[in-house]
Amino acid sequence: MITVLSGGTGTPKLLQGIKEIVNPEDLTIIVNTLENDYFAGVYVSADIDTVLYTMADMINEETWYGVKGDTFITHERLEELSCPELLRIGDIDRATKIQKTLLMQKHSLQESVDIQSRHMGIASKIIPMSNENSEIKIVTDIGELDFHDFLIKHQSEPEVLDVKFSKVKPAEGIIDAIRNSDAVIIGPSNPITSILPILSLEGVKEALKETQVIAVSPIIGNDSVSGPAAKFMKAMGIEVSSLGVAKLYKDFLDVIVIDSQDENMKDALGEIINKVIITNTIMNSSDTKFSLAKKILDGI
Ligand code: GDP
Repeated sequence: MITVLSGGTGTPKLLQGIKEIVNPEDLTIIVNTLENDYFAGVYVSADIDTVLYTMADMINEETWYGVKGDTFITHERLEELSCPELLRIGDIDRATKIQKTLLMQKHSLQESVDIQSRHMGIASKIIPMSNENSEIKIVTDIGELDFHDFLIKHQSEPEVLDVKFSKVKPAEGIIDAIRNSDAVIIGPSNPITSILPILSLEGVKEALKETQVIAVSPIIGNDSVSGPAAKFMKAMGIEVSSLGVAKLYKDFLDVIVIDSQDENMKDALGEIINKVIITNTIMNSSDTKFSLAKKILDGI
């Protein structure tokens, strides 16, 4: 059994490689829910939907958000009606979100995701990190912003001073999934807004200490491959490098996978982490996703 901790861009790319190798029934994916919220009347769990679409081979790989080839008729019509949406939600994607919103009138988020997962033919278990609503605020030089306002309205441009998020209860099954795994893979996701929320759940770090944990760094050199991870790490006083990532996970991390461009960090990393794997971690094709997944799984 393999468990993967995921956000909504870097790790889903890796999941595309992992799902080619690991039996789907032997794969559990614990997904960040920190940024979940209602937009235009529908419940948006962006990272969960990205993982659902990735596992169902429907993901839009240009944006790592929504469904490939989707249309935007409803989104455009809302704009014509002077009711613009902050998020650009596609029509097929909106159907998923409407279904989840309806399901959640009677079911927990986990149950709703289970039902959708079944409808999409996904055999792996997808666990939202929590069934509770959380709050995240990005403290910036222009004030305290909601996550999506920072990301979309302000295009991640303001200077970030702090990232604050509420504590929530872990969803049932998370601790058991970690404990019963041969290995836990922390994908190359945003350490602050995707992974830290999962690590902050009660019992998760303790369970990880008892399991083999492998992390792939989302940082190459002194920047993130994409998105605002570097800005968030800096604001939290964490060095923006694979070494900074390793220090963040060091209490439970057994293996760190870093990019070939960071080979010079091998010795420094070797002082705090048992094993360092150096390879190409830029996943820009099926081949690179597959070979990175293979390297990780071979190392288990
Ligand atoms: P979000 O929920 O959309 O923020 O997505 P994630 O948290 O899952 O992923 C964002 C992180 O993925 C960023 O920090 C990127 O640096 C990292 N990332 C994206 N693509 C790649 C890649 O091909 N290789 C590596 N190593 N990291 C990547």
